[in-house]
Amino acid sequence: MQGITYNSSLPPMISPLQPRLDRSMSSLTIPPPACMLRPLEVPFRYLFGPGPSNVPPRILAAGARPIIGHLHPEMYEIMNDIKKGIQYAFQTQNNMTIAMSGSGHAAMECAIFNTVEPGESVLVAVNGIWGERVAEIAERMGASVHTMVKAPGGVFTNEEIEKALAKHKPVLFFLTHGESSAGLAHPVDGIGDLCRKHNTLFLVDTVASLGAAPIFMDQQNIDILYTGSQKALNAPPGTAPISFNERACQKMFTRKTKPVSYLLDMSHLSNYWGNDGKPARLYHHTGPVSGFFALRESLAILAETGLEESWKHHKEVAEYLWTGLEDLGLKLFIREKDLRLPSVTTIAIPQGYNWREILQYIMKHHQMEMTGGLGPSINMVIRVGLMGYNCQKRNADLALAALADALRNCKKSKA
Ligand code: PMP
Repeated sequence: MQGITYNSSLPPMISPLQPRLDRSMSSLTIPPPACMLRPLEVPFRYLFGPGPSNVPPRILAAGARPIIGHLHPEMYEIMNDIKKGIQYAFQTQNNMTIAMSGSGHAAMECAIFNTVEPGESVLVAVNGIWGERVAEIAERMGASVHTMVKAPGGVFTNEEIEKALAKHKPVLFFLTHGESSAGLAHPVDGIGDLCRKHNTLFLVDTVASLGAAPIFMDQQNIDILYTGSQKALNAPPGTAPISFNERACQKMFTRKTKPVSYLLDMSHLSNYWGNDGKPARLYHHTGPVSGFFALRESLAILAETGLEESWKHHKEVAEYLWTGLEDLGLKLFIREKDLRLPSVTTIAIPQGYNWREILQYIMKHHQMEMTGGLGPSINMVIRVGLMGYNCQKRNADLALAALADALRNCKKSKA
């Protein structure tokens, strides 16, 4: 390592087997915790749940590159690349395109906090946990929240949406494209036009669907779109692409009150990402440098693969999995094939089985994560996710074999 020297006067690493002899002389009342004197251990797991998914070696290697300063010119270049990668993945030309320093929730809060002011009306489509979550976020910042509620996996017609837009006159309407708690890919066509007609911003969550199911931000008139890093993009959790179009910028940059969060304030973040046209990019917060390296690599893989190829591949592998599940006698929770999310499949809990026992068995005997439902879909489904790097027929075979084994061996839990 050229240029870096190690100071030999630094204390040597303390071995757990060699407690320091001078501890009785220490001024500290809290000793070093024993766990911290043991090396980090991380087991291998097949991450076949709704995320995070396994990270390919190429992305792991990108994240392990030496750190540079978050305000160095090379970092700005990498951030510019990320912006272009997101524009491709979202199919948008929006200048106001960035990656949040935070998980999908940071993007959810950023979207709401910046475009809605306290007291304004917000309409949320709830058909799983993500609508519930956004309704709570909007309520916490003082919005007047209206919900349209369906059972998990329910689909809202454009007529129903238009009726609610006319009734509640919201400044923003939220819909989840990939409802990962229900396994639903909600149709989006036509809703952006309805929102324009009613002077409403259209906010869409693609955390679980980006790269796996088609979405066209500009063509579908979506005003704000976000996703997460850890699903089909296959980067580690902790960064979240988001994009705002001109209509959304107009609303968020002419607001009367400051957004409740300093960290998520787009007037600062747009400068940090070089989107505000100002010559200097100023310090706002320290971005997750390694996380951005990894995100850049994941967007590069998507660009190399091609979006259409990625969508096609996810659909093919998902259909292979669905057939295999039905051959095992399992029922898919979303009946209509065209409405199933290709990245996260939901299986109706087989009658007489305890879903927790099935999942525990699969984790114990196959080192494989699958999960149960979330929020309103709890006790209704088992979720299997094959996303990005994990989206391979051989992984579908592993998941099917694990489920078949569990169905054979968890029989004792049958009612
Ligand atoms: N929206 C959807 C559709 C999701 O699946 C998730 C994550 N499971 C989130 C939002 C929240 O993302 P995160 O856990 O990265 O905060």
